[in-house]
Amino acid sequence: MKALLVCEYREGKLLETSYELVAFAEKLGAEKAMVLIGSEAEAPKVNGTVYLADAGKYGEYNPDVHKKIVLAAIERENPDYVVFVHSSYGWDLAPRVAANLKAAQISEIVDIVDGKFEVGVCNAKLRRTVTPKSGKAVLTIQAGAFSAAAASGTPQLERIEADGASVLEFVGYEPAEKKDVDLTRAEIIVSAGRGVGKKENVPVIAALAKAMGGELGASRPVVDAGWVEHSHQVGTTGQTVSPKLYMACGISGAIQHLAGMKKSDFIVAINKDKDAPIGEVADVLVVADVLQFVPALTAKFQ
Ligand code: FAD
Repeated sequence: MKALLVCEYREGKLLETSYELVAFAEKLGAEKAMVLIGSEAEAPKVNGTVYLADAGKYGEYNPDVHKKIVLAAIERENPDYVVFVHSSYGWDLAPRVAANLKAAQISEIVDIVDGKFEVGVCNAKLRRTVTPKSGKAVLTIQAGAFSAAAASGTPQLERIEADGASVLEFVGYEPAEKKDVDLTRAEIIVSAGRGVGKKENVPVIAALAKAMGGELGASRPVVDAGWVEHSHQVGTTGQTVSPKLYMACGISGAIQHLAGMKKSDFIVAINKDKDAPIGEVADVLVVADVLQFVPALTAKFQ
């Protein structure tokens, strides 16, 4: 079994998630080759073939050109699986490649069990097991679901080109407008989850963040309910953060939330459920009602 892993490269850097693709291939027990539209200096540190197309020539993201390059690597490798990270890059490019190959596509894989792929359903409350019936399949994996493999090894670089000209041109990246908070730079983040109960209770969590000199974070349901602005959301569809201290208040620890905060240096979770999955990544799990524990802690800091 062979997997072609499509690396991501942005603004001159190889994204760390490329090593999550390696971990996925290892868990699957697949032989791997990788493709990078980037620079030689940023080639992934792995043993094995890495097809390299020069981003200097092709631009950083042009869906038409990148599809041609990935298809050229597929032609050379004939893999069973072509694997992307489920990021804005992956979810744009993977379906284009799948449509070209007339291959099955399985999106947002969170685990592999007995060689079959698990994907979340019902807003990730349940998991469905799927397996392609035959032929090639194009896969995307949930960011953070597979812990990144170590960057070690020496790639065997093979130059690759896009076949034919493109009608599209890469113009550039425009960073999103800066919002009221930049969680990526915060050293302390205190996050509110659905366990806070209602919008009127969010200030209880915000007060602790302020007393500790930190910023307020939030899980997605809190943002979706309009209790907190999206700029505070942590997770796959929010910010990826790595503060010195992350406090999760009334947050269960869904994989999409963990993907955004599990690299924090020290994690404290406050949850009334001692078996909440957040306990698996937390350094300290306080089993308590947030609305009792947090005000008491805030008073101490004040
Ligand atoms: P819940 O899962 O409802 O957990 C609430 C927790 O609070 C429970 O553990 C409960 O025991 C505890 N609790 C309840 N009352 C109290 C109390 N009084 N005191 C203490 N504890 C209490 N989620 C994100 O956070 N970020 C994302 O970026 C994100 N992106 C997603 C992308 C996709 C494509 C999908 C499908 C989902 C995404 N999600 C994201 C949603 C994610 O799957 C979870 O639904 C979400 O993280 C759950 O949020 P929560 O932990 O606040 O709520």
